[in-house]
Amino acid sequence: MGECVVKRARRRTLAISVLPDGTVEVVAPLGAAEDKIHEKVEKRTRWILRQRRVFAALNVKRPPRRYCTGATHRYLGRQYRLKVSIGEDQGVKLRGAYLLVVSRSEAEDSVAALVASWMRERAKEQFSKRFVAWRTWCEERGLSEPRLRLLSMPKRWGSAHKNGTVALNPQLVRAPSICIDYVIAHEICHRLHAGHGRGFYAELNCLCPNWRQCKQRLEAMD
Ligand SMILES: [Zn+2]
Repeated sequence: MGECVVKRARRRTLAISVLPDGTVEVVAPLGAAEDKIHEKVEKRTRWILRQRRVFAALNVKRPPRRYCTGATHRYLGRQYRLKVSIGEDQGVKLRGAYLLVVSRSEAEDSVAALVASWMRERAKEQFSKRFVAWRTWCEERGLSEPRLRLLSMPKRWGSAHKNGTVALNPQLVRAPSICIDYVIAHEICHRLHAGHGRGFYAELNCLCPNWRQCKQRLEAMD
């Protein structure tokens, strides 16, 4: 079943986790017998394999995005084709199935910068719109007004801070809107529950019953 590391700690129950490199880490109570530990790990085999698949998919090096005519880019889950033309009046426009880019240069990094700033603007607009409903939700629970911040994070879609700020990755605007709602719901849930315990998931299940599908779609997104 691959690499498995067993650590001992002063605790009553066994904790099994899969690390991003696929290693299984088991933290066992000081007195737990080896065979019992292995028995418990065996029972979690299916879960372990599933976790490994998720990490393997994340670790696959994706080809870099292209910024030339014909390249595809996602916005709110839909695919658009890039059409680059040369002009002085630089900018990006969405027209039908196309993202029309006017750039002074055909160089991919110039086009990439224009697309990135357009995506950031759309992210601000889309996220703010979806954020409005949460103001009332927080107010009803005596929580301070949630504040939105755009933050590029290499490995995360969002994060929540104690002061009420929810940071969202502008790249999230590439995802379908239900996935954006899931990430916001997840981060807003942290206003009530710090970790990912039972209470956290109970709340998340209420706020976003289909969160598992959303999470999978985000993980599979190109
Ligand atoms: Zn979280």
